[in-house]
Order: sequence, then structure tokens, then C-alpha cells
Amino acid sequence: SVQRILVTGGAGYIGSHTAKLLRSRGLEPIVYDNLATGNRVSVRWGPFIHGDVLDTVHLARTITQQKPAAIIHFAASAYVGESVKEPSKYYRNNVAGTLSLLDACLQAGVDKIIFSSSCATYGVPAVLPIAETTPQVPINPYGKTKLIAEHMLADYAAAFGLRYVALRYFNACGADPEGELGEWHDPETHLIPRALLAAAGRIERLDVFGDDYDTADGTCVRDYIHVSDLAWAHVLAYEHLVRGGDNIAVNLGTGHGSSVLEILETIDRVTGHSVPIAIHPRRAGDPPALYADPHLARATLGFSPQYSDLETIVRTAARFFGLEAQP
Ligand code: UDP
Repeated sequence: SVQRILVTGGAGYIGSHTAKLLRSRGLEPIVYDNLATGNRVSVRWGPFIHGDVLDTVHLARTITQQKPAAIIHFAASAYVGESVKEPSKYYRNNVAGTLSLLDACLQAGVDKIIFSSSCATYGVPAVLPIAETTPQVPINPYGKTKLIAEHMLADYAAAFGLRYVALRYFNACGADPEGELGEWHDPETHLIPRALLAAAGRIERLDVFGDDYDTADGTCVRDYIHVSDLAWAHVLAYEHLVRGGDNIAVNLGTGHGSSVLEILETIDRVTGHSVPIAIHPRRAGDPPALYADPHLARATLGFSPQYSDLETIVRTAARFFGLEAQP
């Protein structure tokens, strides 16, 4: 019979793309989501269960009934800025939520977890690129909650034999290459969707947060990785656990940094619409440059990005903003 995978947060941006790829691999994604930020219409590749990860009883009952081979745990709050203003929401959803999930797993007897972590756990790294051995010193509540959850996974693994892969995402972006899913956060704070909204004339302009950084063009540098590449890494992580692979925490990035201005130039070129901008002061908590050393994910999971060139990222993302790519 078909193996089921419980996908918490599977109605969200990365979770929905992952559910689609699980289905393409012959696995059945069971989406468990409270729809606080997810979209019901993004759940199309398997059953939907409306539930909150904080509800340990409902979660344990769901796991007992569904008997998933593994759990992919996306459900979390994910805005850095909001985490500074509302830390309690982040400690509750991300720390208590993961604790609830781990206890439900113990009760219901699931021993494989794939966890959404973040490069925000590294804070402002002393050295680039960021390898997994880089000290994790997060500078905001969001990064701290993801780091605490990683520690919980390691401690549950030591105590109870839980098996896990923690995936430290760099900057997720882009949309399903087949156009069935996209990025729709509310509010939308991320660079590429906001820049596309500005290019489409749906917001007045894009605010560029700082052009006086110590980078080649003065704007921040990030490692942009296509959501379908991230999604694929979860399939690979599941296969790693099935073949008895070690518990690991790995970076998911390309190894290449792009500046804000490079992104805007790519949008101009790919869509034929220029992005109106205003230069603003730096945004609090933004490190100048972040990019991954991607070697461990390749060595352990066989991960290599296929869609993460800037042109493909922008082309796939642009469809959702009423912008067709130019031929
Ligand atoms: N950024 C920007 N204007 C925006 C949104 C983001 O200049 O409206 C910059 C931000 O300062 C950062 C980069 O774009 O350097 C990526 O920001 P995003 O919020 O997309 O992701 P983050 O790196 O914060 O996870």
C-alpha cells in the first residue's frame, strides 16, 4: 500500500510544494494545518486535516489513525520582524508546537521527522560561506525558536531513538514550475514577491532596505533557493531516513549569494517591467551577507538545486503577479 507522510503546515508555501512532489514520488501527503497562514486551495495532492500542532491529543490521534511513515514538520510562524514584536507567538507555535509534535510522535510511535529549520539559526556569521559547523548564535526570536527545536530533536533522538533531518533553509523563493502553486503570504514581506508587486504596479514601489552595506553594490546579499528545490530536499531527506541514514542538520542553499539589486535587474530583464524603488535605511536585524556552504546536503542527501538560477526563480514567481516572462 501507499506510504503516507504527515505534512504539518502542508497548506503553506513550502509545505504545499513538498506535498506535490511527495505525490509525484508515489507517497501520500496527509496535510495537517490550522490554516492560520496556509491556504486550503493549496492542498490538492492528498487529504486535508484541519488541526493545530499545539493540540497534542488531536495530533496523536491523527498519527495513530493515519500511521504515517514519517512526519514533515513545516507548521510554524515564520516572520523575523514579527518575532521581535511578538515573541510569545513564536515560542508558542515554534517551540511548544514542536514539543507537542515530538510528544505526539512518541505516543503514536512515529520515529522519523523532517524539520524546517533556518539559516536564521546562525545569526550574523563570522565567516562565509556558512557551513553547518558555523556556531549557531541567532539574533532574533524566530532564529532562536528554530535552534531550540533543533536541540529538542537531538535530545529526543538521544533519549528515544527518534530519527531526524533538520533542513536549514536559506531564502526560499520562486513558485511551482508547472504554475499550480505560488507564494502568497499575507502580509507579504519578502523581497521577490514585493518587487514583483511593484513591477506589476500593484504597490507603488519597492523599498530597498539599505544601499550602504559592505557588499559589491551596497545592498544585502542572500542565497536564494527555489521552493521546488527545497521541496525536493524533503523527499531526499525522507529517503535518507528510510535507508537508515544518520540524524543530520544540513544547509539548503545554492552556495551563491545575490544582491537585492541583482534580483531587481533580473526582474527587469525577465518580465520587461522595471521595479520602481525607493532607497530606505537598513532594516533592523539584517546581516549584510548570508550564503550557504552547500556541500553537506549534496554529500548526505544527494541534493543539488535544479531551479535556483535567478532567471528561473523570477520566471516561475512572476506568473502569480500577472507578469508573463518575455520571450
Ligand atoms: N528587502 C528589501 N526590501 C523589501 C524586502 C526585503 O530590500 O521590501 C531585502 C532585505 O533587507 C534582505 C533581502 O531583501 O536583505 C531579503 O529579504 P527577505 O525579507 O526576502 O528575506 P530574509 O533574508 O529577511 O529572510
